[in-house]
Amino acid sequence: TTSESHRHIEAVERHAAHNYHPLPVVIASGDGAWVTDVDGRRYLDCLAAYSALNLGHAHPRLVAVAHEQLDRLTLVSRAFHHDRMAAFVTGLADLVGPLVVAEGPGGTGEAMVLPMNTGAEAVESAIKVVRKHAHDVRGIAEPEIVVADGNFHGRTTTIVSFSGDPDARDGFGPYTPGFVSVPYGDADALAAALTERTAAVLLEPIQGEAGVVTPPPGYLARVREATAERGVLLVADEIQSGLARAGSTLAISHDGVRPDLVTLGKALGGGIVPVSAVVGSSEVLGVLTPGTHGSTFGGNPLAAAVAAEVVAMLADGTWQERSRTLGARLHDGLSELVGHGLSSVRGRGLWAGIDVAPEVGTARDVAERLLARGILAKDTHTTTLRLAPPLVITAEEIDWLLDRLRDCLAAV
Ligand code: PLP
Repeated sequence: TTSESHRHIEAVERHAAHNYHPLPVVIASGDGAWVTDVDGRRYLDCLAAYSALNLGHAHPRLVAVAHEQLDRLTLVSRAFHHDRMAAFVTGLADLVGPLVVAEGPGGTGEAMVLPMNTGAEAVESAIKVVRKHAHDVRGIAEPEIVVADGNFHGRTTTIVSFSGDPDARDGFGPYTPGFVSVPYGDADALAAALTERTAAVLLEPIQGEAGVVTPPPGYLARVREATAERGVLLVADEIQSGLARAGSTLAISHDGVRPDLVTLGKALGGGIVPVSAVVGSSEVLGVLTPGTHGSTFGGNPLAAAVAAEVVAMLADGTWQERSRTLGARLHDGLSELVGHGLSSVRGRGLWAGIDVAPEVGTARDVAERLLARGILAKDTHTTTLRLAPPLVITAEEIDWLLDRLRDCLAAV
């Protein structure tokens, strides 16, 4: 790092809370799959802001919509209607509605959208909705929600209450009751945990923060069967896995499963504004009535304008197809490195969790070597590195990434 980078990092270390341990790079601009640091060095962004930048940095269509909206209207609160909401909620209901509402206890009502801002807020909102549904519709006094070990759903006090990660959870009690955690990928364990009190099952169809952990084939379908049998709602947290990252609009559709509720975030805001949403049938989201839930910024005009454009861009399936095709190229290349510095590779679409073999070093070591070679990637846990480049990445850039990764795994 140069003195310019140093100055930035020192000031941040002094005055910003130390709840992150960033790689020592100070980014000043971004375009597509590439970013440039304060010293003019360019890097291929293979994290894409934890999949919030699926459409890349500064996509011209999104930037144009944002600029136009910024000059016209940015906030009215939900006390009034604004002229950008209809396109957003209609577009998102059209895109995701057919993937969620057709089966299960959620019924076949029309799709509805609850706009929020961050991912954790969408998950909190989904938790409130399924609890209210359990109270109002099923008469359950103390509803329970079944979650999976290794989950990551956000950082609020309620959400960390059911995290299995000691760093995320320890010291933040007292914890919110009403959650039961079962091993991820074990449908029998999940089915056995369902009781008369179970309001919902909340799962990531692919566990992103856990290291892009893909459940065994048939798992999600069996979870759907078990929940449907008992009238239990299934909530898919697609905040990281959704919106084309895993090669389809929703990752869970790959398994032919329709959940009752879906949480979306990250890429929904085009990497420009925080936008999240809960999507489900009107029968389930209909338990919310005026005054029961809200958000000052949720669905604001700037957010709605950008998100509507993101949804419009995803409507014809081109990005999903690109994620599948280029993802196959990435995964082919990565699988050749297993036994040559990698111990295993997981994931789908342009999304991979790679486990670094112990003799190579830690995932952080590899991330630092990649940084020195012009690639940004981030470790998740000690031995796992996540690769999630913006979907605008080209085939040549994937090959370039694979070449450099091969170098880094060799260099001890
Ligand atoms: N849910 C999942 C599956 C996530 O991966 C994340 C973030 O990594 C969240 C929820 C929380 O989103 P946010 O950081 O926007 O609150």
